[in-house]
Amino acid sequence: MKPLQELVRPNIWALKPYSCARDEFKGVKAEAFLDANENPYPNGVNRYPDPLQEQLKMAISPLKNVPIDNIFLGNGSDEAIDLLFRVFCRPGVDNVVAIDPTYGMYEVCADINDVEYRKVSLDENYDLNPDALLATCDANTKIIFICSPNNPTGNAFQREKIEKIISAFSGIVIVDEAYSDFSSQKPFRLDIQKYPNLIVLATFSKAWGAAGIRLGMAFAHTDIIGLFNKVKYPYNVNVLTQKKAMEILNNVTLLQRHITMILEERMMLMKSVAQLPICKKVYPTDANFILVKVTDANSIYQYLVGKGVVVRNRHRVHLCGDCLRISVGTKDENTKLLSALRQYV
Ligand SMILES: *Cc1c(COP(=O)(O)O)cnc(C)c1O
Repeated sequence: MKPLQELVRPNIWALKPYSCARDEFKGVKAEAFLDANENPYPNGVNRYPDPLQEQLKMAISPLKNVPIDNIFLGNGSDEAIDLLFRVFCRPGVDNVVAIDPTYGMYEVCADINDVEYRKVSLDENYDLNPDALLATCDANTKIIFICSPNNPTGNAFQREKIEKIISAFSGIVIVDEAYSDFSSQKPFRLDIQKYPNLIVLATFSKAWGAAGIRLGMAFAHTDIIGLFNKVKYPYNVNVLTQKKAMEILNNVTLLQRHITMILEERMMLMKSVAQLPICKKVYPTDANFILVKVTDANSIYQYLVGKGVVVRNRHRVHLCGDCLRISVGTKDENTKLLSALRQYV
């Protein structure tokens, strides 16, 4: 890995961050908070939130097996993805490399930040080629994006292939593990001590059942976490989100039950969809969705919408011609989908 200072934008390296009232106060026993011009009358949200979400990180740390100082929390993983560009990529100069197809936000954030986005195609089996990814990098490549399990293809990549990329690349490697709770593979977040150039993304939006609160995580070396904290909005995770997340973290049994049910339904859905006349192929999945190649994705998608069942049409995505991406729903939702598809002529 190059020295971090060579990878970070010079203006960000030199940045003196905004110091908010709650940053400056580190005392333990304050009796009056007269430092932030808040309304003093309690209603649950009259105070600014903890800018570094320490209580929440203390609850997340043992569950994810990542030390508190290696955790960044943001307004969804999307905030962490945007911060990556703002911290590492000089607009109009630097570039990033990503597999194709993959999660659409990487390219959108690259475009917003005026950073060249280089795509490297997966093969017909949706597998990645580490050498092809590395060969696409040049002196100005700051980041390689790998999403595993990948969206929209559903498959997780072989650990050795990802390790090869992290070891060989001198810049930053992102492993997006939004779906790792549904996969039996060992998560890469446990390897952040081993690889100083690795950033692992995770989210409350999928298995944790909290897409509505907008809470995402990034796990990385403390120096990288420090850069994220320097650039983020001071109060990026609001009080309501922090409270609700604490509630969710206190009920891990429910999370486990949901994951088990989703995995059971996933198996049922794969078997049932494979038997439909419209189905040409069900791709293997390590996520809470299945990618299905059908006879005519556009017309089946429209037909399903007419029946009140909304899936994701991926027909126009690279390597996903005539593919629908179907999230695993409740038993009832999956039954509605299957009965609609059985009636399709
Ligand atoms: C859904 C998803 C996310 C989650 O994004 P949030 O902003 O945390 O909701 C991240 N990465 C991938 C690949 C996803 O599919």
